[in-house]
Amino acid sequence: MSESVVTLFESLVGAEPPHDASVLFDTACVMGGSIAGLLAARVLSDRAREVVIVEPDDISAETGTRSGVPQDQQVHTLLPAGRLWIERWLPGVTQEAQERGASLCGPDQTLVTYDGVRMAPDGVDHHLLALGRPLLEALVRSRVTALPNVSVLRGQATGLRYADGAVVGVRVTGPGAGDQERAEEVIAADFVVDAMGRSSRLSNWLKQDGYDQPRLERLEAPVNYATAFFERTEKIAELEAGTVLQQFTPRYPSGGVSIAAANAIEGQQWLVMLTGFGDHRPGRTIEEFRARCAELPAIFKEATSGAITRDVRTYRQAESRRRHFAEAGRLPARLVSAGDAVASFNPVYGQGMSSAALHASCLASYLGSGADLDAPATEFFRLQQVVVDAAWAVSAGGDAARLDAERGTEVPEETRQQRQAMAQIIGAMLVDADVARAFNYVSFMLRHPGTLADPELLKKAVKAVKAVESVESVESGAAGAGASAK
Ligand SMILES: Cc1cc2nc3c(=O)[nH]c(=O)nc-3n(C[C@H](O)[C@H](O)[C@H](O)COP(=O)(O)OP(=O)(O)OC[C@H]3O[C@@H](n4cnc5c(N)ncnc54)[C@H](O)[C@@H]3O)c2cc1C
Repeated sequence: MSESVVTLFESLVGAEPPHDASVLFDTACVMGGSIAGLLAARVLSDRAREVVIVEPDDISAETGTRSGVPQDQQVHTLLPAGRLWIERWLPGVTQEAQERGASLCGPDQTLVTYDGVRMAPDGVDHHLLALGRPLLEALVRSRVTALPNVSVLRGQATGLRYADGAVVGVRVTGPGAGDQERAEEVIAADFVVDAMGRSSRLSNWLKQDGYDQPRLERLEAPVNYATAFFERTEKIAELEAGTVLQQFTPRYPSGGVSIAAANAIEGQQWLVMLTGFGDHRPGRTIEEFRARCAELPAIFKEATSGAITRDVRTYRQAESRRRHFAEAGRLPARLVSAGDAVASFNPVYGQGMSSAALHASCLASYLGSGADLDAPATEFFRLQQVVVDAAWAVSAGGDAARLDAERGTEVPEETRQQRQAMAQIIGAMLVDADVARAFNYVSFMLRHPGTLADPELLKKAVKAVKAVESVESVESGAAGAGASAK
């Protein structure tokens, strides 16, 4: 793993807003007003006289679910990389979230286990933000739309306009008076961001308009979510853990639940989530949901014991996807894509919103680099590839390993060795603080996964796993001797 990729990743994670940003555009247009679009708009507000966010949903209401973000009723934990980035560029989000009842959970209030074994404390003061997704989006949105040069246009982007190989406008339709669709209009723009989420049609537009269609890579990762909300009597400070994440292998009697999470969120509620992979469905009714929770460690029974404040909602995602813009030979200038529109992963890894923040960081770095804006944004896509590769290595890497193991698929020797090394890291992080620290930095998206390939760390991991195995074999030998003596 090249040192420069590791360093570049860290510089994107730590990026600060510029002090004296020169204005580069008259109007920048962001298609999509969710997390990726809002964070891109924040970056563009330093570089454009006017930033217009085009969003089909009515986002004037403060919070609440909306059709453009169907996943917003499922668990959403903000990882440290995303939270720290948002806090630097939109200060005050964390404090306001806490004032509104969200939990900011440090190591003492974060409970992560694997088959019931708690991860070793890593000695680092990381914080995860547990809250409802609509609340987080509202806090980000209120700050972005309060910027004097940012506005929201309710409408749906339907295509692009070009001149001389560059994007010069966005075609928009939207609701007019009564039930009538407004006639299509073109928003003139000298820079455009696609932040239309996982089902963005940008690739199809590019193909229709004679440009290259970025290659779409898909990885089967069928995951079934079920989430319900329950009344919580304890205040956050009284809780042993405000965010709980427990992963189960098929060895653990979890009734097909692969991951269970409970977050203490606003409104004195527990948001409880169960997931199953493949054909395992965590249950649609509240009776099924509570029955599954009763089979899990006690915290899930407790969290689901209060009155239901929101019934079970399910969500299925069949695959992880990424679009390889960096490989596309012919793209128009003044156009980039960000967030789930570029890469959307198996959500159980909680990477999506932090990835969107790092894509915004790539945009800031690109716009500050003096790049030729009349050429395709190759440098932006190169930076973004570093971020997407990193997130993909963690989530898709884990999913591919699981699928191949289930199906007995032969893999190249190099892949086999990488997976074996990762298995040692995962085994060791339950008992070794250094390995847990290195793993957490990567899974919280603060460091590049290449840092886990450090030979010293791997040696340590192998040693720690061997030590656990020898204790286990002594214990099982003693138990066996005890049993045969009875
Ligand atoms: C079940 C589940 C759980 C998740 N949990 C987590 C988690 O714990 N932590 C985490 O960080 N991430 C999580 N994610 C991922 C996270 O939801 C996404 O990564 C994040 O929302 C991406 O933001 P986005 O702005 O790119 O896209 P989206 O949030 O999907 O928003 C796309 C926006 O584009 C708009 N749009 C669509 N079409 C058009 C158009 N034609 N014109 C204009 N606008 C348009 C939509 O209305 C919407 O507002 C989870 C995802 C799922 C599915």
